[in-house]
Amino acid sequence: MTAFGRRYSRQVRIGHVAVGGDAPVRVQAMTNTDTADARATAEQVAALALAGAELVRITVNDDDAAAQVAAIRDELDRRDIAVPLVGDFHFNGHRLLAKHPSCAEALAKYRINPGNVGRGSKRDENFAFMIETACRYGKPVRIGVNWGSLDQALLARLMDDNARLAQPADAAIVMREALVASALDSAARALELGLPADRIVLSAKVSKVPDLVAVYSTLAARCDYPLHLGLTEAGMGLKGIVASSVALGGLLQRGIGDTIRVSLTPEPGGDRTREVQVAQQILQSLGLRSFMPTVTSCPGCGRTTSTVFQELAARIEAHLQTHRHAWRTRYPGSETLHVAVMGCVVNGPGESRLAPIGISLPGSGERPVAPVYIDGKHATTLHGDTIADDFMHLIEDYVAARYGSDAQARQRLENSLARKEGGTHAGAAAHAME
Ligand code: SF4
Repeated sequence: MTAFGRRYSRQVRIGHVAVGGDAPVRVQAMTNTDTADARATAEQVAALALAGAELVRITVNDDDAAAQVAAIRDELDRRDIAVPLVGDFHFNGHRLLAKHPSCAEALAKYRINPGNVGRGSKRDENFAFMIETACRYGKPVRIGVNWGSLDQALLARLMDDNARLAQPADAAIVMREALVASALDSAARALELGLPADRIVLSAKVSKVPDLVAVYSTLAARCDYPLHLGLTEAGMGLKGIVASSVALGGLLQRGIGDTIRVSLTPEPGGDRTREVQVAQQILQSLGLRSFMPTVTSCPGCGRTTSTVFQELAARIEAHLQTHRHAWRTRYPGSETLHVAVMGCVVNGPGESRLAPIGISLPGSGERPVAPVYIDGKHATTLHGDTIADDFMHLIEDYVAARYGSDAQARQRLENSLARKEGGTHAGAAAHAME
């Protein structure tokens, strides 16, 4: 599946979705609606699932929320949206699971934060109750530790041990170790309580990229549970996207990570599905998964003084986004399509030849012609004011011919090329596609 080796992990089934083992790295998302508002939550889960989320987590924070979980599941089932729901529990999860069996049943996985299940002896008791509930309902569990809610008793013990050393380690290193130990100790306790190993997923989220990489590298080396990756509190906009991409990308490239979530803070009223799009882009840019056709476009420079090139790249990107779901159904494999849109002759022809279909636009002062390359060969040259429209039609024909395996579509592409070029290169293009 990848150019780099993937860490071995046991496979866990979350509803109908396999995580870990040879399953693809999954995209997760989380709602930010009030779970007690079943209609709004089902609506947002549906939007996240349609955007590509394969698992969606919802907050289960009080009785009103827990009482609506089954209704949310029912509404999704009515709409034929099978995405598994994961319940996020803190502080009172033991009580909510006991009081709302319909919630315990409707959820496909429970997320338990061992740092937030209670204090003192209650902590062990509450944790045990949640694990026993998972066993009774046959559900997997994500043991999700978090920097912001780290088990303070464990941290204090490790800090004391460290202070007694002749050469104490830096406090940050002890904190990382506490996160890893909290996740692994809790998993060991879950096993003792009877939860099978193939029903455990681990996560250890922190908010700084170097810490995240260090913590997950250690966790990956010490266990074979599937790992859920996420940079917690990644932030808003560009900062959140860049930080998550760097953190998750570095780990994924080393084969670490079985599910990912990009924890972006949305703008007020912003689109929650953005976190799904970013997660997909991370996986696709690493070559781990293909979700949508991609456009390679050069950044432009002093050689592209007109906006023709940016406009065409933007139009193609929008066109591919609009059509990708329909194409995926009608032309399986089209999600791997790669279109090159280049701004001038410097790198244009070379880069365009490397893509299944590419165009090299005229730069400033160049002749107003745009060679098109199909499967590595010069297929035609477009001229005049209709270059953008003509190229869009060629993409449509190419997708139908290449992924539709349809003789008529192939003929349409040949005819289309022949019309544009007077037949000069049409044969070469058709040959290139065979
Ligand atoms: S391909 Fe041409 S226009 Fe694009 S960045 Fe390179 S030199 Fe500039």
